[in-house]
Amino acid sequence: MEPCKHPRVRVLTREEDAEFVECLECGEVFDSHEFNDMAIEERNQKEADLNPE
Ligand SMILES: [Zn+2]
Repeated sequence: MEPCKHPRVRVLTREEDAEFVECLECGEVFDSHEFNDMAIEERNQKEADLNPE
């Protein structure tokens, strides 16, 4: 099974230093910071593909 890339998420709760989002595709709930890290990781991976060393 292909891992969900969570293309669509909605915000569940927003607190002072934490924000939780739910994926509308797979229903997984995670910290939005974690989600941002995943997005950044994916972008870095694409850059690495473009500039192999
Ligand atoms: Zn998902």
